[in-house]
Amino acid sequence: MCLFYLISFLLFHPNYCAIKKYTNYTLYRGVPVNKSHLNFFNSLSEMFDVNFWTPPGSLYKPIDFVLAPGDKKAFLKMAEEYDVYLSTLIADVQRAFDMQRVKSYIRRNLGSFDWNDFYRINDIYNWLKDLKDKYPEFVKVESIGTTYEKRPILAVHVTLPGSKLRSKVIVEGGIHAREWIGPCFVTYMLQQILDSPKSNNSNLKDIALTYEWFFVPVLNPDGYEYTHTNNRLWRKNRNNEYGVDLNRNFDHAFGTVGVSFSHYEDTYCGAKAFSEKETIAMSHFVRNHSKHLEYYLAFHSYGQAMILPYANTRAHMENFDTVAAMAKQAADHIALRYNTRYVYGTAYDTVGYVTSGVSGCWVKETFSVPYVLTFELPDRGQYGFALPNEKITPTCIETMDGVLSLLKPRTKIYDKLRHEHRGLDDGQRTKFLDKLVILFNVCLFVIVRFD
Ligand SMILES: [Zn+2]
Repeated sequence: MCLFYLISFLLFHPNYCAIKKYTNYTLYRGVPVNKSHLNFFNSLSEMFDVNFWTPPGSLYKPIDFVLAPGDKKAFLKMAEEYDVYLSTLIADVQRAFDMQRVKSYIRRNLGSFDWNDFYRINDIYNWLKDLKDKYPEFVKVESIGTTYEKRPILAVHVTLPGSKLRSKVIVEGGIHAREWIGPCFVTYMLQQILDSPKSNNSNLKDIALTYEWFFVPVLNPDGYEYTHTNNRLWRKNRNNEYGVDLNRNFDHAFGTVGVSFSHYEDTYCGAKAFSEKETIAMSHFVRNHSKHLEYYLAFHSYGQAMILPYANTRAHMENFDTVAAMAKQAADHIALRYNTRYVYGTAYDTVGYVTSGVSGCWVKETFSVPYVLTFELPDRGQYGFALPNEKITPTCIETMDGVLSLLKPRTKIYDKLRHEHRGLDDGQRTKFLDKLVILFNVCLFVIVRFD
C-alpha cells in the first residue's frame, strides 16, 4: 500500500515529475513571407506539441520551434501544403543539450569557477559568497527576496575604492530559466569589474570606477535549477506546476499585448502585475537604488539584439534616438572586432513582435532611467539555448567589449548624452542663479540707498 502511495506521489506531484527528455525532438526554423504562412505558424501550437524558441512575429522574421518526433511527419506534410520556407537547425535537440557541460564549483577556490562551463544555482551562489569573503571591503552580497521553492535571490553590490561618481548600474540576468548564457555573462561582467584595478585595460578601469554596480545574476533561481534537474526548456518561475513568465509580470502595460493568459503557455503573464515573489523582490530592489540609477541592463538569449524600450509599442518613445545611437556604436564595435552582428531597436524593430510587462520598460518609465537595454545574447539560432561550452568565453568577451562601449565615460557622445540627460537640472540651476543675482542686486540697492 505504501509503495502505491509513493508511486502515485512521484507520478502526479508536479515537483517530482520525471525528467523531460528531448531525444529526437527537432529544432526547425520557418520564415513567413505572406499572411497565410504567418497564420500557419500561429496555429502550430493548436495542432502539435510545439515549443517556440522564437515565437511568430511579423513577416520575414524567423520563427524557431521544437517539435516532438511523433508530430514531425504530419507537420512536414502540412508545411509542404502551405509551401512554407523551412530549415532544420538542430536534428536532435537532446543531443545538443547533452553536450552542454555543467561543472561543480569548489568552495573557497575562486579559480574553480570559470567561463568554460555552466553551473548549478548553488555553485553560482557559493561563488558569490566566496567573492564577498575575498573582497569584504567593496563587495556586498544580499538576498533581495525568497522564491516559491525557498531559495534566496542574491544580489551583489560593488563599489570599488576610489569610485568617482554616484551613478548606478543595475545588471539583471537569468529571468528566463533556460537562457543559460545570461547568468554566465552577468557573472563574467562582475568578475571583470572586480579585476579592473589590476587590469591593463584603462577603459575598463575608468568605467569600473565611474559607477556603483548592482548585479542580480539569476533573478529566477527556481526556474534555472529546474532546467538543470527536470526540463531543460523551462522558461518561467516555479509558482505552482505551471509557473509565470517573470518578464511579462512587471507593471508596465501589464497584460495588454504579447502575453498569454493560459497558465500552461510559456508567456503566461500571471494573475496581475507583480503577482510573483521574484518580480516583487526585484521591484523593491530597483526602487531602493533608483536614485542616480543611470543604466539598467538585462541579459537574455538568443538572437543577437539590443532591445530598447518600450516593448509594447512600435513607436520610438522618449530618448530612443539617443540610446539607439549608443546601441549602434556598441553593435558596430562588436561587429568590427569580432564579426558578431547585432541588430538594435525596439522589440518590434528587432524580434518582430510587441509585448508587455517587461522589467526594463517598467524601470525606465517608473524611475526615468535614461539608458535601459535588453540584450539577446548569441547566437542567431545555430545552437539557440543549446549554446556549446566553447562559445561561453568568446560570447562573454565580445559582449563585455560592447557593454564597455555603451558605458564609455569620456567620449564626446557620452558627454553629450550626460548633458542631455541632465538638461533639466542645468535649467533649474540657471533659474536659481538668476534669482541669486536679483537678490544680490536688491541687497546692494538697499545698502547703497540707506547707507
Ligand atoms: Zn529571455
